[in-house]
Amino acid sequence: MTQPGFHDLISDTQLRKAIDVLGYEAPTPVQLAAIPAASAGKNLIVSSKTGSGKTVAFLLPAIQTMLARPCVNPTSTRMLILTPTRELARQIVKNAEQILKFTGFKVGMVCGGEELKYQKAMLRKNPEIIVGTPGRLAEHISHKSTEFSGLEFLVLDEADRMLDMGLSDDVLKITNTCRTERQTLLFSATMEQKGLRHLIKQVILGEAEEIYIDEKP
Ligand code: ADP
Ligand code: MG
Repeated sequence: MTQPGFHDLISDTQLRKAIDVLGYEAPTPVQLAAIPAASAGKNLIVSSKTGSGKTVAFLLPAIQTMLARPCVNPTSTRMLILTPTRELARQIVKNAEQILKFTGFKVGMVCGGEELKYQKAMLRKNPEIIVGTPGRLAEHISHKSTEFSGLEFLVLDEADRMLDMGLSDDVLKITNTCRTERQTLLFSATMEQKGLRHLIKQVILGEAEEIYIDEKP
């Protein structure tokens, strides 16, 4: 039997075109497992090693779902991606822009080290997707410059590293303001991190499917 391709996982023609432009030939194991489960509306706890293609595993199903349904609240962010560092946020934004190329969706980045004023102006334009680091996002929530009452997707990328870096208080401050009916996708390179179960319990509301990809070299 042949391996499923991206066309078996993604039906949206704008997204299929973007995947073709990116030149991805076949989905990676984590994409094969996570894309159908996330597309089915499940909360996910996914563990897979660095470089295995986790970014597309959360971007594609969430964006396809959002394209297919009306937003809950036009002034709220629809998808929030939290990641531990500015460099990781930049990489996610870059990948998201490639995926969004043939859609009308916009992505905004909110990290430390940039002017708050500039970020507030960007947030007023209500990009559908925000990628950010927890510290600066928590600050914007205090200033009420963004809000997540209509949030459809919450992604915690590199959740283990966010814990390592002592960011869990900020993560919880942000996630507590997110719409409870959202879908939550938590990604991690390892599941051994102490405190990860505690974070998962507080962030994933309800049931979750666990996906562990253990690729042998
Ligand atoms: P992770 O988050 O698991 O560390 P990334 O999502 O950053 O991994 O992906 C690592 C690299 O692999 C990126 O350069 C990305 O563009 C590329 N990539 C992702 N999915 C595929 C695929 N299906 N085929 C080829 N390259 C891919
Ligand atoms: Mg990653």
